[in-house]
Amino acid sequence: MQFPHLYSPYKRNVLKVLILALVLVCLICASTVPFLWESKSLWYKLGIDKTLLQLGKVAGLWAAVLLYLQIILALKIKILDRILGLDRVYYIHQLNGYLILCLVVIHVSLVLIPEGINNLPIGWKFWPEIVGAAAFLLLIGIVISARFRRALLSYHVWRRFHRPLGYILVVIISIHILYVSDSFENTVPKYVLFGVVGCVVLAILWFKIKYLINLRRYFDIEEIVPVTDDIVSIHLTSPQPFSYAPGQFAFLRFSGHQISSEPHPFTIASAPGYNDTLQFYIKKSGDWTADITSLSQGSPTVHGPFGLFSYKTRSTAKDLIFIAAGIGITPMLSMLREISQHSNPPEILLIWSMRYHTEMFLEREFTELRKTLPKLTTSYVYTREDGGKRITKELLEKLLMEKSKDSHIYICGPERMMKSSRDALVAMGYSKNNIFWERFAL
Ligand SMILES: Cc1cc2nc3c(=O)[nH]c(=O)nc-3n(C[C@H](O)[C@H](O)[C@H](O)COP(=O)(O)OP(=O)(O)OC[C@H]3O[C@@H](n4cnc5c(N)ncnc54)[C@H](O)[C@@H]3O)c2cc1C
Repeated sequence: MQFPHLYSPYKRNVLKVLILALVLVCLICASTVPFLWESKSLWYKLGIDKTLLQLGKVAGLWAAVLLYLQIILALKIKILDRILGLDRVYYIHQLNGYLILCLVVIHVSLVLIPEGINNLPIGWKFWPEIVGAAAFLLLIGIVISARFRRALLSYHVWRRFHRPLGYILVVIISIHILYVSDSFENTVPKYVLFGVVGCVVLAILWFKIKYLINLRRYFDIEEIVPVTDDIVSIHLTSPQPFSYAPGQFAFLRFSGHQISSEPHPFTIASAPGYNDTLQFYIKKSGDWTADITSLSQGSPTVHGPFGLFSYKTRSTAKDLIFIAAGIGITPMLSMLREISQHSNPPEILLIWSMRYHTEMFLEREFTELRKTLPKLTTSYVYTREDGGKRITKELLEKLLMEKSKDSHIYICGPERMMKSSRDALVAMGYSKNNIFWERFAL
């Protein structure tokens, strides 16, 4: 089966280089402003003071460029997902947030040091500087609340204000740049700034409108059935063809009164090409996922697919090793279901760790899959039974004894388990480049 929406690794690498080059060009162009269109504040500065002020302005302009990029990164743009994977896009968004804060601290320090502490720009005459100070405080608030989100707030409350505050920050910073320095009274910097802000606004509108159109494409709930005490299986029927690769995920949203309407990411556990039905296995892990177990009606929409955690995104499907813990089995299940339709399936080893036997909800399906996939081996690990076995280096050495070091390894489960498994595999001689993992948190 073909997946035209996926890019080849070569195309992904070329596009990554192009994106990086584009960001660098924007940063370089921004750096030229304080030198080519020198503001009057620089005329009266000499020597080190002038250099510090110029560098401070460059740092501020870099922060602005990265802030505009930050908005683009948060728009769930499909092309960025196909190049980097949405989880990595969000990770870059996170790191970029810290980088912006560092640059703004440098900007504020370098701009204030040459002025001297006694000449702080206080008073209404300096309103653009005061706007800048407000933006600085807002930025600190946004970065700290994102960093300590889990400890401070529930995800959906945090999410509700994080995005609007980001937009407000962009507006405030643009006003600050435009009025704080007379460099931006010159035609070129002024219109380039208008152009950049215009592009960002258009991108927001474009992706918002596309998203709202998608929200009108309701899926039908075929069934919601509990499969264990805390996992439900949901089948949704698509109103039109929905193409995805095995292992990819989508954002599920239900409108109605029974459940809050924010979108949540879930792996599509079904295999593409079966029929128009998408299946999701959802485990209770918070308030929204608890509500879904008692959902009887609602109008679901599906936004996606996203992600690169699929053997289909790599050039060759060599021998495959799947290591899953708990609900992290869902991408592996989708891939196994898809591979079972192949005429020449690869050798696959599946290691699945659960806490108790009662959490095993796929035994019958795996028994059936082994009939169509004779080269599939399964190994189940129960961490709270059988003397508390775990996925350790010793266990992996035993299970992977006959596996080629070129095998492609997919890991999904709690962060700690993924990290320790990856470290063990690297120590056993597997290349980091052949180990792929999916975090169930964005
Ligand atoms: C790529 C991916 C695939 C996933 N696949 C599955 C799956 O197949 N089955 C399954 O049971 N779970 C899956 N999850 C996890 C699932 O998305 C969360 O368990 C669920 O969103 C928790 O929501 P909650 O409100 O019940 O819990 P909360 O207690 O509110 O949230 C728990 C954590 O889930 C994450 N989260 C919560 N809401 C959102 C949101 N709206 N958007 C993004 N992240 C959010 C946050 O990291 C949060 O800290 C997946 C997550 C990701 C990122």
